[in-house]
Order: sequence, then structure tokens, then C-alpha cells
Amino acid sequence: MSLPKANPTRSFWLNHNPLESYRTTKELPTNADVVIVGLGLTGTGALFNLSRKHPQLNILALEARDPVSGATGRNGGHLTPFSFRGFRQDSEIMGEKPAYLKRLLERHNADHLVGIINENSIACDLQEGTGNLQCCDAQEFADAKLDLAAFEVADKRFGGNLLEDVEIWEKETVFEKLGDNSAVGALLIPAHQLWPAKLCWGLQQEFIKNKNVNIQSRTPATRIYQQKGSSKWQVETPRGSVVCDVVLLASNAWAGHLLPSNLQKALVPTRAQVIAFQSEQDHKVNVKEWTRGFTLHHGSEYMIRRGKDGVYVIGGGREDIPGQQMYESDDSVLNNRVGAALRSVMKSIFPELLPESEDRIQEWTGIMCYTLDGKPIVGQVPGAPGQFVAIGYNGHGMPFAFQSGQYIAEQAVNYLQRNASSVADEKIREPTLVQEAWQLFDPSRFDGALAEKLDGGVSLPSTSRSMRLANTLRHNRHWLLLGLLFLIFGQYALCCK
Ligand SMILES: Cc1cc2nc3c(=O)[nH]c(=O)nc-3n(C[C@H](O)[C@H](O)[C@H](O)COP(=O)(O)OP(=O)(O)OC[C@H]3O[C@@H](n4cnc5c(N)ncnc54)[C@H](O)[C@@H]3O)c2cc1C
Repeated sequence: MSLPKANPTRSFWLNHNPLESYRTTKELPTNADVVIVGLGLTGTGALFNLSRKHPQLNILALEARDPVSGATGRNGGHLTPFSFRGFRQDSEIMGEKPAYLKRLLERHNADHLVGIINENSIACDLQEGTGNLQCCDAQEFADAKLDLAAFEVADKRFGGNLLEDVEIWEKETVFEKLGDNSAVGALLIPAHQLWPAKLCWGLQQEFIKNKNVNIQSRTPATRIYQQKGSSKWQVETPRGSVVCDVVLLASNAWAGHLLPSNLQKALVPTRAQVIAFQSEQDHKVNVKEWTRGFTLHHGSEYMIRRGKDGVYVIGGGREDIPGQQMYESDDSVLNNRVGAALRSVMKSIFPELLPESEDRIQEWTGIMCYTLDGKPIVGQVPGAPGQFVAIGYNGHGMPFAFQSGQYIAEQAVNYLQRNASSVADEKIREPTLVQEAWQLFDPSRFDGALAEKLDGGVSLPSTSRSMRLANTLRHNRHWLLLGLLFLIFGQYALCCK
């Protein structure tokens, strides 16, 4: 796995970066208590806790490019806890309770993040609670109703009360509210939209006022290791190395090369693509309530219309592309077929909106981190005391990343203090189901049996069609290889005749 490319495609959210090439000090410090690797939403969450709650610690944040230049600065702008969507499939894969707890945590985290934005008055164009509307064909709508029924049972059983504000729209309501005749129905779930990079920059600009925080842009961590017999970590960069007590890896799909091989193997970097534009034909669209986000084709495409400037942002379009952009970690290039698919989806829902001139469409890519079991990886790296990781949100990181960063920051402080007081205090305030949910993501699950399964190519659970394809290929790779050998042998035999 490589480092992020130095010349990524230009995202709408990053047209102006107030922290471009920012370095708190000209020279890279040689020592720190904590080093954070990566400054997206995860790294920002970790910094939030460390700088506010633990001013005695010296914190150094290394960012390979500019702050928030990864997925957080390139995504679709949705903050959507998935609620009941896909519940039956997830339950089948990971069990009913884990599937429920994952959703509970998403909801809890999304509420928490909205609270932080409001408490700190961060100007990030947050549009709260307007909901995400999934427009469905007949099969999708029928599936959704079954998911809802199964989720209602679980919600009663586990008592999370997660079904408030969910609405099912039958065809007539969809037509009345959207003027859309094609969808047979729709589901509305609570959701928000925002400018994720502005959220992170807003907080980071506060953090750097604190003397204990040092941010170093354009400084990738290239290697981390422990000297023999020492508990200290050495973090190498092209500008020199830093000695520290704790390393927090918040570097998304690029974390692999800094992790033990069993965790590295569990990661599937996947490239996503997005377009954004303003439309001169806005007035022609017969939509009554525009503030919500849209989801189509089981979540394969996702769209918002920004309330502030009417910019449309639509992502997805890779489900029918061979390879589905999996195992791609280069966000400096576009894929023309994905771009064409995005335009075609847009035309199919709102034919009048897409500008005729390509010059008026901004297009970019970003890298998501899928995992082979469909769950994030958050916690202490097994066998590496003082190393913590928060990655692998499977393309759905907004309701996870910030709190995952906070979570490992608290684990790190606990490790440093060698007593559980701060973590325990934190946890006592949280609902117990939430505590239980975090345990699902512990990296130690990739030790032992699960790692052996991965090595053996056993088909593992996944939460998206892309991952199902990846697992099928993985599962059948011996047969594919055998087929290929037969083909080659057949060709050879023909040539010899
Ligand atoms: C196109 C796209 C659309 C998406 N849409 C949505 C959406 O609408 N809603 C949603 O919930 N989720 C969405 N996601 C997923 C979501 O954006 C991510 O899960 C989330 O932003 C991950 O945050 P992060 O901080 O962990 O990673 P990132 O934001 O990628 O941050 C990691 C940082 O680490 C840096 N880095 C990497 N390696 C090193 C190194 N060795 N040394 C130093 N720095 C390093 C990178 O440069 C980067 O800045 C989308 C993702 C993409 C790519």
C-alpha cells in the first residue's frame, strides 16, 4: 500500500484550503508524547480530545499532504446514520445484535458530532435533520419494508429507540413531493448534510492556538517502529524522525504499510468518484423540499443539493464498472466510465439539471477504506503497545470517523497514564449499548481464527455489492486460477496441432 499521491484531483470542498502547507514550526519536532498520522475527520477527532482534555501532552499531527486532503475533503457531504437500511443482510452476516449495535453507534455518533458543531459554532454549512431520501424500484421498496419490519423487532428487543423520524413514502407521496413518477416508493431516514472539510479546518484552527499542538503538513510518516528494548516509538518521515510514546494511525486506506500484515490484508482501498455543479435549470425542477440528500440503487449513488449555493454533489457510479475501483489508492486520476455513469444517473433522475458544458462540472476522486468483514477497525493494534488505529469505515465514515479518533485518543491517554480513570469516566457517561458497540471494531478480531480464514480465502461478510464481489473473487480464486491454466494449456495444445 502506498502513500497518498502528491497531486490529487481537485475536489469542490478543497477549492480553498485555509491550512494549505501549514506547519506550526518550521522544523519537525524530534520528540512528542503522541504522534497522530493523518489529519482527516479521524485525526481531527483524536486531536479534539487530546488538545482539549489533556493539555499536558505534546501532540504532533503529521499529514502527508494538506490537512483534510483525503476522503474527508473529497466525499459526498452526507452525515447519514443508516438506520434500518440493509439490516437483514447485515444481521445475516454479523448477527442481529452486532448489526443493530453498529446502527446504534452510527446514530449516537452522528448526534454527538452535530452537538460538537453546534456547541463550537463551527461554520460548516450544516443542514440538520432534513433526512436522506432513498428512491426505490419495486424490489428495493419491498426489501426496505422487510428490513424495517426486522429492525422494528430488534429495536424493541434491544431498546435503542432508533426508529423515530423514519418515514415510508408510497408512490403518490413521492410524486407529490418530488414530482417524480419513476420511483415506486421512498424511505426517509434522519440525516444531515455539511461541508466536512470546513468542520475539520474550523476545529484545527482552534487547536493550533494551543501551545501543545503542532501540525506538520506535507510530512508523511514512512515507517514506524520500536527500538529493541524500548517502549518508545520512532516515526520516520522524509524530513527527519520523531520519538514518541504513542502513535495514533488515522490515515485511512493508506495505513496498511504501517500496520502488521494481518491487519494490512484486511483492508481494501477503494476509489470513489464525485461530480459537482450548479445548474441554470434549477427552477425547472419540481421538487418541493430540496434540503435532504438522495440515495439511489441501494445506496450506490448518493446526492445532495446544498442549501447555501444550490451546488449539486453526486457520487457513486462504480457498481457496474469491472473491478469496481477496488484495490485502487490513487486519487490523482479519474475513471471515465465512472464519470459517464454518474452523468447518466443524474440525467435519468433530473434530466434538465446537468450543465451542457463540461467546464461547469467539477469532478474528483477519493479513497475509501473497506474491510474484509465490513466493520471499522478501531482500537489498540495487537502486539504493538502504544500503537492505536482507527480506519475502515467502509465508505460510510461520517458517522464513525470523528468519534473513532476520540475513542483511540482516550485509549492512548489511558495507556500513557497506566490507569483506567479517564477512560472509565468517559465510558460511565455513555450508554452501555454504545460501549458494547465499540467492542465490535477491536482490531484483535483479525488475530488468530479470522486471520487464518482470510488467508484461506474464505468468503467473509460484507455490507455492499462491491464487497460481495470481492469476496466471491477471493473465495473462488483457486478455481479461477485453474480455469486460466486450462485456457493457457488449451491454447498451447491448439498451437501444437
Ligand atoms: C468520494 C467519497 C465519497 C464519500 N461520501 C461519503 C458520505 O457522503 N458520507 C459518509 O459518511 N462517508 C463518505 N465517504 C467516506 C468518508 O469520507 C470517510 O470514511 C472518512 O472521511 C474517513 O476519514 P479519515 O479521517 O479516516 O480519512 P481521510 O479523510 O482520508 O484522512 C486520512 C489522512 O491521512 C493522510 N495520510 C495518509 N497516509 C499518511 C501518512 N503515511 N502520513 C501522514 N498522513 C497520511 C491522508 O493524506 C489523509 O489526509 C466518502 C468517501 C469518498 C472517498
